[in-house]
Parts: sequence; C-alpha cells; structure tokens
Amino acid sequence: MAGKKDYVNSVVSGNREQIEYHIKQILGLLGEDVEREGLLETPARVTRMYEEVFSGYEVDPREVLGVTFDEQHEELVIVKDIVYYSHCEHHMAPFFGKAHIGYIPSGKIAGLSKLARLVDAITQRLQVQERVTSQIADIMEEVLQPHGVMVVVEGEHMCMCARGIKKTGSTTVTSAVRGEFRTSAALRSEFLSLLKQ
Ligand SMILES: [Zn+2]
Repeated sequence: MAGKKDYVNSVVSGNREQIEYHIKQILGLLGEDVEREGLLETPARVTRMYEEVFSGYEVDPREVLGVTFDEQHEELVIVKDIVYYSHCEHHMAPFFGKAHIGYIPSGKIAGLSKLARLVDAITQRLQVQERVTSQIADIMEEVLQPHGVMVVVEGEHMCMCARGIKKTGSTTVTSAVRGEFRTSAALRSEFLSLLKQ
C-alpha cells in the first residue's frame, strides 16, 4: 500500500516566492512586458490560485473520510454529483465535472460530506481522470473496507477543448469497481440506474 508520502508531497504555500518568480519568468519568455499594469500582479495571483487548486497536496486523502461505525447498514449507499475541479498533469490545464461514489458498507460508513472532501483531496493536485477514479475507489476500499465500491467520474478537459482535439462539451467518463461490484453485473447496473434518477 502507498505510504503517506505518496499523497502528501508538497506544500505550495512554502514555495510561494519561488513560484511567483518563475511565473514571472515564463511571462517574460512568452514575450510579454512583465512590467505592464495588467501583468504586475499576475505572478502573485497565479500563485494564490495554485495554493487553492493544488491544496490537495497538503492533505492525506485517507485522513479526511472520518469513519463512523454502523453495524446495521449493509445496503448500497450512493453519493452522486460531487463537483470537482482538477488539473491534468500533461498540460496543467483544468478538467472538471462530477464524481459519483457507491459502496456497500460492512460496518464502517463515512459521513456524506466527507466523501466530497475525499474527492477534493484527490482532485486538487495534478492528476489524470483515470487515476482520480481509481484512487477514490482504492481509498474507499482501504479505509472503509466495504463489501464493494464503484466510482464513476465524468470530466470535461480544457486541454482537449483548447487544442481542438475534441469538440467543446465532450465528456470523458471513467469508472472503477472493487469487491462485489466487480463480480455482480446486477449491482453495477443498480448503481448506474440510480445515477440516472
Ligand atoms: Zn491535458
């Protein structure tokens, strides 16, 4: 299993001055006049934005789930339409959309808002959508040890839109299944039909 260092590996705020410096360098290398009024505050603004959109680096996603115990409930739990905002690691361009999580508890459940925090901790860093999807499933499995987990993530990728590879508005859908969801087609289709409601 991944160690803590695999998830918590950088602190943007600790490198603020250096990031500002390098953003300014890039603006200059793009041929911009870095002293013109519109750009004066840009390095600082970009750095503040990075602190926010890459704040996941400061969080171990396994610690945000806030497990509670409930021996009774062993039926499918679904939290859908969790909005996320991430950045692709290939272009540092935004991708965003919704994550849907379904799981069957076996004694441990997580507060519904905690699932949203889990998604934030995983998406607020440089990512690819496939890994977002599998990490959510893996961490759910590791922390809650449920009978099964299924995760579906929908994403719109700005690097595709901006570079004309795909039309604007096209959505990429990824899924990950663990445990009973892997073996039961009925369970997968129950989850998917509940997502449509
Ligand atoms: Zn990309």
